[in-house]
Amino acid sequence: MQNVDYIIRADYLLTMEGDLAVIRDGAVAVTGSDITDAGTFAGVSAKYTSKKIIEGKDRAVFPGLINTHTHAAMVYFRGLADDLPLMEWLQDHIWPAEGKWMTEEFVGDAVGLACLEMLKAGVTTYADMYFFQNAAGKKLEKIGMRGVLGAGVIDFPFTGYARAVDDYFANAENLINNFKDSDFVFPCIAPHATYTCGPDNYKRANALSEKYNVPVHTHLAETQFEVAECQKRFGKTPVEYFESIGMLSERLFAAHCVWLTDNEIELLAKRKAGVAHCIESNLKLASGFAPVPKLLSAGVRVGLGTDGAASNNDLSILGEISTAAKVHKAVSGDPTVVDSRTALLMATKIGAEILGLGDKVGSIRPGKKADLVMAGLSKPHLTPIYDIYSHLTYCLRPSDIETVMVNGKIVIERGRPTTMDEEEVLAKAREWQEKIKG
Ligand SMILES: [Zn+2]
Repeated sequence: MQNVDYIIRADYLLTMEGDLAVIRDGAVAVTGSDITDAGTFAGVSAKYTSKKIIEGKDRAVFPGLINTHTHAAMVYFRGLADDLPLMEWLQDHIWPAEGKWMTEEFVGDAVGLACLEMLKAGVTTYADMYFFQNAAGKKLEKIGMRGVLGAGVIDFPFTGYARAVDDYFANAENLINNFKDSDFVFPCIAPHATYTCGPDNYKRANALSEKYNVPVHTHLAETQFEVAECQKRFGKTPVEYFESIGMLSERLFAAHCVWLTDNEIELLAKRKAGVAHCIESNLKLASGFAPVPKLLSAGVRVGLGTDGAASNNDLSILGEISTAAKVHKAVSGDPTVVDSRTALLMATKIGAEILGLGDKVGSIRPGKKADLVMAGLSKPHLTPIYDIYSHLTYCLRPSDIETVMVNGKIVIERGRPTTMDEEEVLAKAREWQEKIKG
């Protein structure tokens, strides 16, 4: 018998591996930061012993959810400006607020709230695009949550962060060097969008991504306005433009990809670029409907993202799973598309793959990191149970998440954080609210 740190039981264990079979009365054995084994409880308990057994009656265990696109620090702008078109929302509200408030201190504090919200909702890894990511990285290491932190790049200076374009790249290299050995922080480079970043900066970001083998995180083909502008400036639609400047590769993951031609879908598939689908942000900003069923059938890897809390307005991937699974049925007129298993895969295994973390997280198998979520199933809205995938897609809420483990350590226990002081995080957010409101 081998001794392990934890044996986590579950009435329903979803590994998100292989044929997606559900393991009834399952268990996961965890040693240190890693998953040692997973299978039936009978099988696991025949091989392993542990002083810490987490009971799993009326509970499901699945891999930590992956948020493939957000701007975590924007939680402090949640509800600041709603019900506006994207460019007006950005130019008249979000960018001025960011210009006024964004500092290292702001980002560190705000990321604390974002992490609290995400961990409590079962999200264990998020991909971010913002500035002052060193502050976010420090916070993540303290909390014990994973982030693929994209150092933002735009063509114009940003007071307090970048006096000239060179500074964005220097800051990105600094971030990469600071966190190169981190278990929690995976730096990347994040040129903002085709309408804020010219081809030179995109190419430079791509070169840096190649040099350090880190991902490129960008916004792409989000609105019809962007497509028209791109055509006007470069004579090409966004993905074709990306192809022409060598941006399409396995290292790229692009948020939105709403307005795509069939040729562009083929290009994304051919170059193995990933897509971060942000359905709720697209709905709220009336950006349109990304052709997700077409992308998936073309073999493009599509993960799910919340986008920033100012355009969603929460950071719940469970919400994205449910909305994505429903909206694409209505849009395509086909109730079989984006079925519950597909939606869950997008939120776990595929999401991890597009972030370059497919060998570490996103599914439950020996050797991967122990990023696990346990949800209670005994509430009225989860009763009865015929298909657990259906429940996770259409019924499960963030408030049903009880236990969350990241890197083998429990960070949420009975719904409460163990590495953060919840009251303190909320009080800090309210302090900022008073300042921002003016
Ligand atoms: Zn975004």
